[in-house]
Amino acid sequence: MEHSDPGSLGRGDDLPSTRCGYVAIIGRPNVGKSTLLNHLVGEKIAAASRKAQTTRHRIRGLITHGPDQLVLVDTPGVDPSTPKLLGKVLNRTAQAAVDDVDAVVLVVEAGRWEPADEALAQRLENSNRPVVLVINKVDRLKDKSALLPYIDQVRGRLPFHEVVPLSALKGQNVEPLVDTLMQLLPPGPHLFPDDEITDRSQRFRVTEVIREQLLERLGQEVPYATSVEVEQWEDSGTALHIGAVIWVEREGQKAIVVGKGGRMIKGVGSGARLELEQMLERKVMLKLWVKLRDGWQDDLDGIRRMGIDVES
Ligand code: GDP
Ligand code: MG
Repeated sequence: MEHSDPGSLGRGDDLPSTRCGYVAIIGRPNVGKSTLLNHLVGEKIAAASRKAQTTRHRIRGLITHGPDQLVLVDTPGVDPSTPKLLGKVLNRTAQAAVDDVDAVVLVVEAGRWEPADEALAQRLENSNRPVVLVINKVDRLKDKSALLPYIDQVRGRLPFHEVVPLSALKGQNVEPLVDTLMQLLPPGPHLFPDDEITDRSQRFRVTEVIREQLLERLGQEVPYATSVEVEQWEDSGTALHIGAVIWVEREGQKAIVVGKGGRMIKGVGSGARLELEQMLERKVMLKLWVKLRDGWQDDLDGIRRMGIDVES
């Protein structure tokens, strides 16, 4: 409104012309939350900013479409398998986290409604937040005519704001979900200027690439609580020098991640470096350390400091 007469009472003088809000993606493990998030955020922007992070949220991505900015956050405590104190802390914050966002996306798998889905739906019942039900993996339905009866069946479980069947993997029908979510955002200024998040988003994606390499190479042996933290990030002009710490809980886990003669960690490092060079489109020098933080799961400060990622 920069050209308008300050005295005029034109439409929208009081309301900002932009919208911005928080949306949580929740669902039991394996329904496709990460896949959906990656698809939503795409290559453009993903942020994991410690500074901007509230105690309840971990920011996983941003979608900015012109005047609308959507901040996607993790809602911890929705995984019943979360162990020990970590699980308790996160479960306690789960309800509050849901109350804190402007909308919730509940993800389920097409054709299925498990007790864990029901439990999550019940948790959302009193949240007073619009809940959008995403029926993911529709590409897996052999009999497409089963989708409509399924939608009818699950629609009644909660007064969903909208039900969106899609395939996060194939990218089918994802845009309508974005449109639906944008409509739910409250008016307000954007919380994140684009240039501020670029670098952080890259750091976040770096930790994800390293975690992926760990998972690929170690499978079930990867300790649940392993987390990756970028400690060094220096641009020498010719290359990006990245140093990251892989935090483990126990000496034995450290030995597994390092491997015989350091073979495992070297493999993780070179695999991750190749991925990173493709992703960042430049030369990357990657250094990895494995550090032991004994009993950190029982250390509340530690949990907070590390910006826990409850997805795994
Ligand atoms: P999360 O635990 O909820 O984060 O689930 P992930 O995103 O890790 O996905 C779990 C598995 O489901 C992975 O093997 C994905 O490739 C797969 N998956 C996710 N979305 C889809 C989809 O739309 N269609 C199919 N066929 N598979 C999917
Ligand atoms: Mg996941």
